[in-house]
Amino acid sequence: MSAPVLRLSGFGKQFGSLRVFSDVDLDVMPGDRIAILGASGSGKSTLLRCINVLETPSEGRLELDGELVGQPSRAGDMRFSERELCALRQRVGMVFQQFNLFPHMTVAGNVAEGLKTVRSVKSQKALERAVAELQRVGLADKADTYPSRLSGGQKQRVAIARALAMDPEILLFDEPTSALDPALVGEVLGVIEQLANEGRTMLLVTHEIGFAYHFATRILYLAEGGIYESGTPDEVLKNPKRPLTQQFLAEHR
Ligand code: ADP
Ligand code: MG
Repeated sequence: MSAPVLRLSGFGKQFGSLRVFSDVDLDVMPGDRIAILGASGSGKSTLLRCINVLETPSEGRLELDGELVGQPSRAGDMRFSERELCALRQRVGMVFQQFNLFPHMTVAGNVAEGLKTVRSVKSQKALERAVAELQRVGLADKADTYPSRLSGGQKQRVAIARALAMDPEILLFDEPTSALDPALVGEVLGVIEQLANEGRTMLLVTHEIGFAYHFATRILYLAEGGIYESGTPDEVLKNPKRPLTQQFLAEHR
C-alpha cells in the first residue's frame, strides 16, 4: 500500500471567532479524485486554500507523502517556513474560479512564469515547456496571445496549463467552471477529464453534480464545520444518508 499523497488529521481553520471547519481527517491516495460539494459558505474554498496554505490553517497536521509540513503554534494559526511554503506550492497546484492570469504577460509567459521564478528554469527552456503544456490543453496556437483576447474557457485552460507546468503531485480546483458561460463549461471539464484519465491526483470543488459523479473516486460533502458525509459517488450522490446532503442534492438536481 503506497503512502497517501496528502494526509490531513484534526485539520481546522478559524477566522477570529468564526470556526470554518475543524477535525477534518482525510487521506488522499495517488490517483484519487475527490469532489468536494457543499452549500455556499460551507468552507470548500477555505479547505482548499488551507491545503496549499494560501490561508494559514489553524490546527492539525498536514502531511505530503508522509512528510509533516508546518508546525502547530500556541499563539494561533499554524506556522510555516518560507522553504516549506515554496516546496508545498510546487507540489500542490491550484486552479481558481477567476483564472488569476497575469494580464500583462502572454499566454506562454503566464505558463512559464512559475518555472522561471520558482524553479529558476532559463527563459527559453521555460517557454518551450509552456508551449508543451499549452499543447496538452489544446492552446499551443495561443502561446503569443494576451489573456484579454481569450474566452473564459480558454483562460481557464491556460490556468490549468500553468498549474501543470510545475509538475504538481496534486491539483486543486476551486469551482473552475463557475465563472464561465454555460457554453464554455464543457471544454474545461474535458481537460479535467483528460487529467483524470492520466491518473492525476485531484481535489475538485464543484457544483457540477453530474460531472462529479463520473469524475470522482470519492465525494466529500461539507456542512456543519466539517466533512458531513463522504463516500463513493454512488453512496453520496445516489443514496445520501444524512439530511443536509439529501436536501442539497434535491436542490441541485
Ligand atoms: P465556500 O467556498 O464553501 O462558499 P468559503 O470557504 O469561501 O466557503 O467560506 C467559508 C466561511 O469562511 C464563510 O463564512 C466565509 O465568510 C468565511 N471566510 C472565508 N474567507 C475568509 C477570510 N479571509 N476572513 C474571514 N472570513 C472568511
Ligand atoms: Mg468557494
